Amino acid sequence: MTTGSRQVGTVIIGGGIAGIGIAYYLAEAGETSILVLEGNELASGCTQGSLGGVRQQFSTAPEIELALRGLEFWRNFEKDFDYPCPFYEDGYLLVTGREEVLNNLHAAADVQKRNGAPDVEVLGADQLRDVAPWISPVGLLGGSYTPHDGRFNPTDGLYGIARAARGLGVEIKEHTRVTHIEKHSDGWHVSATENYVAQRVVIAAGLATPHLVRPFGVELDITPLWLHCGYTTEVATGQGMPLTIDLDSGLIIERDGVGACVTVSDPRFGPEGAHRVMEEFATLAAVRAPVFSEVGIRTTTSAAFDATGGDGHAYVGEIEPGLWVLAGFDGHGTMQGPALAKMLSRMMAGLSDPVLDVAMFNPRRIVGGKDEWLRAARN
Ligand SMILES: Cc1cc2nc3c(=O)[nH]c(=O)nc-3n(C[C@H](O)[C@H](O)[C@H](O)COP(=O)(O)OP(=O)(O)OC[C@H]3O[C@@H](n4cnc5c(N)ncnc54)[C@H](O)[C@@H]3O)c2cc1C
Repeated sequence: MTTGSRQVGTVIIGGGIAGIGIAYYLAEAGETSILVLEGNELASGCTQGSLGGVRQQFSTAPEIELALRGLEFWRNFEKDFDYPCPFYEDGYLLVTGREEVLNNLHAAADVQKRNGAPDVEVLGADQLRDVAPWISPVGLLGGSYTPHDGRFNPTDGLYGIARAARGLGVEIKEHTRVTHIEKHSDGWHVSATENYVAQRVVIAAGLATPHLVRPFGVELDITPLWLHCGYTTEVATGQGMPLTIDLDSGLIIERDGVGACVTVSDPRFGPEGAHRVMEEFATLAAVRAPVFSEVGIRTTTSAAFDATGGDGHAYVGEIEPGLWVLAGFDGHGTMQGPALAKMLSRMMAGLSDPVLDVAMFNPRRIVGGKDEWLRAARN
């Protein structure tokens, strides 16, 4: 052992939903020496910015399977973790005014129905106000709707999982940024404010993951995609408000208390520009959701999510013996993170997944064209 270094079974880099999720599942499986190193504070990365949306609406069987696992996890979270984090079953609605996109939504709904997620309806323009009375159908052809999807607060969820992980013996160190990882004969040397020698390392560092794996010859296509969200004053009181996304413009509206969280998802916006996005939102909402012309924006937040290129699937697996990755969720990691963390904990124990072919998540896979297209943004 290196002088001055602490021996650890598994070091996990990153205290977002992925890092805390894998810590929990490894501890639940019986591992006793787990240390999470978080460079900043728990839930300070993408996880903190997440809208907490949970949807079954995807276009490929594996993503639908993960969505169903995520939905079950967050629906049962309060009961299973004995921690306050309600699941709001507001539903999820994707709308479009383009025929080709509506055809794709019909095709995706068929894939969902064939893969255990029958809870989806494709609505015509005249039916949209039945589920979202504040929407203006002018210029829309329809949308796909899943009434039992919803949302939760990801920061609360992460804290609940962290509490359970700590209860199982996991140690979490905040303000401890990992600067270097290197393989030696006695294990993986992990340099931070202290030095560690670990038998296994899991890199779950969100947007910083590509930088940490590059020295091992792995290139991950994970890039920041900025979302600037506005939180409105009271709006559409007493009306249903599914998490609604206009796939043509990127307009997003989600219930938040008596108000709403609103944004426009468009890769043109960079880290600066909350003000510009709120102006764009006002222009789009005047057509699509005129009731929003009467509300104020109380506050805004800005955060980047972990957009992935290529096939749109996450990176989960081993890149060197004992060095693992769990990252790149293309903007749906708070929903899918725990399910993928559970899958990774099984892989680390040498077990396969009962349904999914884990090879499709291999961080060293040759990534071809887009496989999953149903991104919750302008399409
Ligand atoms: C605005 C927005 C809306 C979103 N909406 C949704 C949604 O509706 N539904 C959904 O499912 N997902 C959503 N997401 C995506 C979701 O938040 C992410 O996919 C998920 O949080 C990724 O989790 P993570 O643990 O991989 O990354 P993170 O939460 O970013 O965690 C990584 C952690 O690693 C730490 N770290 C980085 N480098 C180091 C280092 N060298 N040493 C130690 N620690 C390090 C960081 O500080 C960070 O805390 C949204 C994201 C954003 C920003």
